[in-house]
Formats: sequence, C-alpha cells, structure tokens
Amino acid sequence: MGKILGIIGGGQLGMMLTEAAKNMPLDISKIIVLDPTENCPASKVGAEQIVSDFKDESSIRELAERSDIITYEIESGNSTVLKKLESTCEINPSPETLEIIQDKLTQKKFLEGNNIPVAKFSEISSTSDLETKISELSLPVLLKVRKDAYDGRGNFKIDSTDQILTAMNIFEGKPLMVEEFVDFKMEVSVIAARNTNGEIQTYPVVENIHEDNILKMTIAPARISAEISKNAEEIAHKTMEVLHGAGVFGIEMFVTNSNKVLINEIAPRVHNSGHHTLQSSKTSQFEQHLRAILGLNLGSTELLHPTIMYNILGPKNFKGVYKTPTINFDNAFLKMYGKLESKPKRKIGHVNLVDQAEIGIEKLMVNMNKLKESIIVEPDTTE
Ligand code: AMP
Repeated sequence: MGKILGIIGGGQLGMMLTEAAKNMPLDISKIIVLDPTENCPASKVGAEQIVSDFKDESSIRELAERSDIITYEIESGNSTVLKKLESTCEINPSPETLEIIQDKLTQKKFLEGNNIPVAKFSEISSTSDLETKISELSLPVLLKVRKDAYDGRGNFKIDSTDQILTAMNIFEGKPLMVEEFVDFKMEVSVIAARNTNGEIQTYPVVENIHEDNILKMTIAPARISAEISKNAEEIAHKTMEVLHGAGVFGIEMFVTNSNKVLINEIAPRVHNSGHHTLQSSKTSQFEQHLRAILGLNLGSTELLHPTIMYNILGPKNFKGVYKTPTINFDNAFLKMYGKLESKPKRKIGHVNLVDQAEIGIEKLMVNMNKLKESIIVEPDTTE
C-alpha cells in the first residue's frame, strides 16, 4: 500500500511534486497539501487540500494525523510545531534542518562551522554594532533580515556610511545580520538530494540569471570551467553530508571574480533552478525528492540534454485573469501553474528549451531570447 504524503504548501512546487507522485502509485497513494489559497495549483492536479495558513498549528496537526510522511515546498513553515509532531509523523527534511536554514545567521554559522565557504558575515544587534562591523568588513555590505526574507526582500545594500541609519530604520525590530558584498561573476546552484539512508546525489551545476532578485533564467549546465563545476558539486555534497536532511535541496552559490565558490543560501526543498530537470534529466527533481524522503534509491542525475529554463512572470501592467500564452517552438516545453490571476512578478509558469538538436548552449541561448520575446501574457477579457 502506498503512503499518504502531506505537503506544507501547494503552489507550483507542490503541484509538480503531486504530478511526480502520480507516477509512483505503489509508493504514494494520496497527497494532501496545506495551503491558504483555495484551489491552489497542487489541488488542481489531484491533491486534497486543507485550506489554511502554513503556520497554523491545528491545521499542521490535522495534516500530520492524516499523513504518513510530511514534507514541505516552502521554507517558512512552522518548525516549532513540526518539531512537536516528529514523534507521531515522519517529517523530511527534519524540522531541525529546517530550523537551521530558516535563520540566515544560524545557517551561515552552521556552514562556516563545517568549513563550507561563505561570504564574511556578522550578527548585528544595534546601529553602533553595524558601524563597527562595517569598518571591519569594508563597504559595500548587505544588511539582511535573518528570517522570513526571500527573493531579495529583506536585503539592503549599504554603499556609504550615511545609509546606515536608513537601513536600520527600514528593518527596525527585526533580527539582522550583515554580509560582505560579494563581487560575483555568476550565480549558480546545485540541486542535491539525500535519501533517508544517507545516499547523496547532485545534479550538474546550473547558471542562474536574476532580474530584480527574482530568478529569470536557468542555464543547464552552467558556463563555467570543469574545475569550478567540480568544486561547486563537492561543496554541495559536503553540505548534504553535514545537514543530515533527507530530500532535495537547492544550494545557491556565487562564483567570484577570482573563481572561488561561496554558498549564498540553501533552500530545503525542490527549487526553481531545478525545473529544467523535468525535461533535461533522467530523474526530475520532483521524483528525486519523493525517492529521497521515501528511502528509495536515488535516480540518475545525468543531464541528458543542455536546457534553458525561463520563468514566465506576471507582467507589470496588470493584475487579474490572463490568457494562457501559446508557444510554437521546437523542443520547447511550456508548463503553466494553473494560477487564476496574474500579478506583477508572480511566477505563473515556465518554459524549458531543450537542446535536442545538439546546437550548443550559445545557439540555444539565441533561440531562447527569441522564444521569450514571443511569450505574451495579457488579460483575458472574455466573459
Ligand atoms: P538572498 O535573498 O539573500 O538569497 O539574496 C537575493 C539576491 O541578492 C541573491 O540572488 C544575490 O543576487 C544577492 N545577494 C545576496 N547576498 C549577497 C552578497 N553577500 N553579495 C552580493 N550579492 C548578494
């Protein structure tokens, strides 16, 4: 009999996990997601839904009672409640791992303590503390909110000392840290998996292009030397060894101008930069996550075809019901998330352009630039 899987979060990541689970009916018989948005993306592809806030204790308890295993697709879950439930329900990645990751400072201390390279950082307790730390690190620096901050929200770049007060005022009352500003030449990530038996696999390093702190494009594989790739994969492997979590993790890194690799941050879940695996790889990151938490052997992470993933975001000029874009490009795979409304910068779908014809990554990039120009998201005015 397959297990019942509870997922905290039923957005696009929960949706693609649900779709992967449907291909493993002997292992997973049912998916239940906890998500505040009625008719969330995962519910549209067959998951049952508990409509509630992600952090609501009684709803998390209900999810645990109804599930054999719990996992999550967002990192802002309630690790305190999850910790209490650990004895009654299997939870992966473990709430302890989630707790380390949820606080950017604890995460960085953990990595540094395990000799994993990160940018120089420090805890900040007051304005005068920040002044002292800035003189030690030298400008520019990034002031970061430690918790519940993602997609760059909660980061403030300080270029000169007269911005210190403004930065401190913006984040008043929030626990903070400061980090040296890394002069990076590329942002990359490694999707890594560890199963409950300790088996670890990493996917090849990918290159990530952000716009306004939101991921726009992922290029698989990253256009970096074999040596840097190997270094990044080794860092990801070591991170998985020390973290002890089971599941798929997205490990975001910087490649500096002097070719050093530093971890920026870890997501304890399937990751946007792993969406290319749906077409590029033997095992998608979604199947891999399920294999990892169920204690099955991990699947092959081999990249079968270079692939570029492009995120389709809600356009800036409108909010509301939209027409599904159409694309007519060879080897392009469109995935829409079934969200009812478009909002500016909201992730509503993605497209993977796969190099099946072996034209090489640079030509594929030229084609992707044409393809993305052809994607138009516009309001649906039909009744
Ligand atoms: P975060 O939400 O902290 O991962 O940061 C969002 C984005 O801010 C990253 O994708 C980077 O582009 C940038 N960033 C974060 N930390 C640093 C840093 N220490 N130096 C330079 N850029 C950074």
